[in-house]
Amino acid sequence: MQTFQHPKDASHWCQQQRDNGKTIGFVATMGALHDGHLELVQRAKRENDVVCVSIFVNPLQFNNAQDLAKYPRTFSDDCAKLERIHCDMVFSGEIDDFFANELDKTSPLPIAPLACLGLEEEFRPGHFQGVWKIVEQLFITVGNCRAYFGNKDFQQVMLVKELADYLRAQPNAQKPDIDIVACETIRETTGLALSSRNLRLSETQRAQALIIYETLNNTKKLWQQGERHGVVLESYMQKAIAQSELKLEYAAIRDPNQWSATTPSWRLQQAQALIAGYIGDIRLIDNMPLH
Ligand code: AMP
Repeated sequence: MQTFQHPKDASHWCQQQRDNGKTIGFVATMGALHDGHLELVQRAKRENDVVCVSIFVNPLQFNNAQDLAKYPRTFSDDCAKLERIHCDMVFSGEIDDFFANELDKTSPLPIAPLACLGLEEEFRPGHFQGVWKIVEQLFITVGNCRAYFGNKDFQQVMLVKELADYLRAQPNAQKPDIDIVACETIRETTGLALSSRNLRLSETQRAQALIIYETLNNTKKLWQQGERHGVVLESYMQKAIAQSELKLEYAAIRDPNQWSATTPSWRLQQAQALIAGYIGDIRLIDNMPLH
C-alpha cells in the first residue's frame, strides 16, 4: 500500500492509475477506522481496479473546538487495517496543503445546497460548508473516480451528490467527474451504528445509546402498520426518546425525495427517520428508511 502525506503525491499516483487504464474507487474518512469504513473500502475494491482512502480530520467541519480536539486520531492503526484489506493507497495532508489560498477555504459555497436545509445544519451551522470545502478538494486531488459514502450520514450523502453534480456542470475541463455511491449503514449486532465516536462511549453509555436504533426500528414498525403522517411518526419518536438518557437534538421525519427544512405535511410514500443527540458529551447520529 502506498502512503502519501501530501495531496500532490496522491494526485500524481491517481493520474498514473488512470493513464494505465485503471478505474479508481475512493473513500474519504477522518480516520479511527471501524468496520463501517472498511466495508466502504471493500466495496470500492470490488467495484474498481484500485482503491484509495483519505484520512484527514477536517477542522473546517467542526463547529465545536472540544469535539475537534477529542476526535480520535489513530493513523498507524488505520493504515494497518487498510493494508490488511488490500487498499492500494492512503493519503493525508495538512489543511493548507489542500487549498491554493485562504479565500478558497472560507469563501461562500457557489450554490445553496438542498442538503443544508434543517437538521444537521440547524444544530451544526457551517458544518456542511466545511464538508463541501474539503470534499471538493479531495475530489480534485483524486480526479475521476467512484466515491463511496455511508448513508449513516444521510444529509452528507445528499450534499456530496450535489457537489458532484456541481463539479460535473462546470465548463472547466479540470473539474473531476465523480460518481457517488451511497452505501448502507453498518451496525453492531445490537443495532448501534458503527461510529468513530463510539470509541469514547463507556459500557453504560453504549447501552444507553441503543435507544436510537430501537426508536428508529419501532418507528419503522408504525410505518409498516400503515402510518404515513410525518407529524404522528415524529411525535412517537420524540416521546420514545423523552424517557431516555439521550439528550435529543432532533428526531425527525423527512421525505427523501422532497427534502425540506420542516416536517412534510403530505401523506408520505417514502420517509426517512433521522435522530441526533448526545450521550454524555458524545454526539451520535443515525437514520433509517421507513419505506
Ligand atoms: P467519517 O470518518 O466519520 O467522516 O466517515 C467516513 C465515511 O464513512 C463517511 O462516508 C461515513 O458516512 C461512512 N461511515 C461512517 N460510519 C459508517 C457506518 N456505520 N456504516 C457505513 N458507513 C459509515
